[in-house]
Amino acid sequence: MRVVLQNDKNRSRWRPGARASVAALALVAIASGCVQGGSEVPPAPGQPPPLKAPPARALDGYATELRAEYAARAAAAKRWGLKEIPLKPPPPPATKPRITTREGFEVDGHLEDDLPPVFTTIPTQHKIVFLTIDDGAEKDPAFLRMMNDLDVPYTAFLSDYLVSEDYAYFKRMQDNGVALNNHTLNHPYLPGLSYDDQKREICGMQDVIEKHYGKRPLLFRPPFGNYNKDTLHAAKACGIKYAPLWNEEVFVDHWDYREWDQDLHPGDIVLSHFRGRDDWEGTMPDMIRRFLDKVTAQGYAVARLEDYL
Ligand SMILES: [Zn+2]
Repeated sequence: MRVVLQNDKNRSRWRPGARASVAALALVAIASGCVQGGSEVPPAPGQPPPLKAPPARALDGYATELRAEYAARAAAAKRWGLKEIPLKPPPPPATKPRITTREGFEVDGHLEDDLPPVFTTIPTQHKIVFLTIDDGAEKDPAFLRMMNDLDVPYTAFLSDYLVSEDYAYFKRMQDNGVALNNHTLNHPYLPGLSYDDQKREICGMQDVIEKHYGKRPLLFRPPFGNYNKDTLHAAKACGIKYAPLWNEEVFVDHWDYREWDQDLHPGDIVLSHFRGRDDWEGTMPDMIRRFLDKVTAQGYAVARLEDYL
């Protein structure tokens, strides 16, 4: 009993007010449920059975955990100069949505040949968007720290001619839980190439990612979003299951929209690029600030694309 009393003292010291009464209740419960001589004291007649202490304390622990998690997210948002704390996405869906090719984005025989679907939005009712980042030119360590710190998911589409400058950088990205996907070896305009050359670009990048990162990607994004029937046949032959495009693009200083309403929609895939001061008037963290500030202000959370595929 002494230990329990000590705990309750500690609790009321750092959690005043209503929590003191929870602590007192728990104390009473422990007192009435106290084991004496190997048998429990029965409740007084007409009284409910005693509350057990452990559930109350488990709940209390959970609340503490939530508060600590929120405080950590608030501190990270402040550290990285965000206007608001990013919203948490819902848990991954128990049943994955059916992904189909967006109307107008089909090639001949798309369904019949079971080619990878080409899409710009994931069907969902949740206010979530997906961040995808392409190419691999900029390798900013601050960007990795920022995304880890903020715990914001994203998916990378990599081209070997840029990634090969520093495979280790993208290994760190993968170690942080980011899926590394296929964006060809040399970033060509694929419809200008023969089927065989397209296949070399796509399968070649599958080999590079497998060699350096241990996995063959299931996702492929054609450079510039340009593809033809051969592209999707080649991608399928290389083991690709999905060909996600995007509905918005975020730069360091502005947003571009595919839709007439110039707005975000539930399930939209957002494109950005690994670029820094060489190409932009700013850094990767500047771009992420622009991205997150808008997304959060509009009530959207950032979810992990792979959770929906
Ligand atoms: Zn690209």
